[in-house]
Amino acid sequence: MVKNLLLDIEGTVGSISFVKENLFSYAEKRYKDYVEQNYNSDEHLQALGNSPESALSNIQKLHAEGSKQLHFKHVQGSIWKDGYQKNELVSHLFPDVIPAIERALQSGAKVYIYSSGSVPAQKMYFAHTASGNILSFFSGFYDTNVGLKTESSSYKKIIGDSNPREWLFLSDNIKELQAAQKTGLHVGLVVRPGNDIVSENDGIPVYHSFDYLFTE
Ligand SMILES: [Mg+2]
Repeated sequence: MVKNLLLDIEGTVGSISFVKENLFSYAEKRYKDYVEQNYNSDEHLQALGNSPESALSNIQKLHAEGSKQLHFKHVQGSIWKDGYQKNELVSHLFPDVIPAIERALQSGAKVYIYSSGSVPAQKMYFAHTASGNILSFFSGFYDTNVGLKTESSSYKKIIGDSNPREWLFLSDNIKELQAAQKTGLHVGLVVRPGNDIVSENDGIPVYHSFDYLFTE
């Protein structure tokens, strides 16, 4: 019996293209204005360059690399926060996700998020969906501070003393699922429009939607 549902974000509850095309291109278009308006007051920008011009060129380079550097991520996060607050960004969720989470909660299960995006970015994501703020659905958020998603020790930390057989982890990434499986969790491979094609599912159950989750 599944008492705890652990969910990945990108390619599982929301589309990969929302993150790639909407979030990243939104930030890319705003770096210049953000640096001009905030350089003198923002220590993260100052750490990225000795002048607004050098900070901006460094930011553009880090963006192109898909960097997770701390100061750069802070700048991206500030731009996204602003975009969400202005309703210029609305997070994407596949339509079957909220009904499934509601069924899970009704059955007495708890729902958690584990994503490589930072916990503050995860919370922003779920506070600004087309269905409004759904943060109250979740009992916890985990990012790579507990470890990489491809390492089984990360899942041990997340489940703590609880029985791994009471957990179901859903992700679009087979390596993450294999790591969770090693720790004893039930796992499911989520296949969504726009995801990379997974040619070998290693015997892991495949979910094309959440429609049959937590239905009797
Ligand atoms: Mg994913």
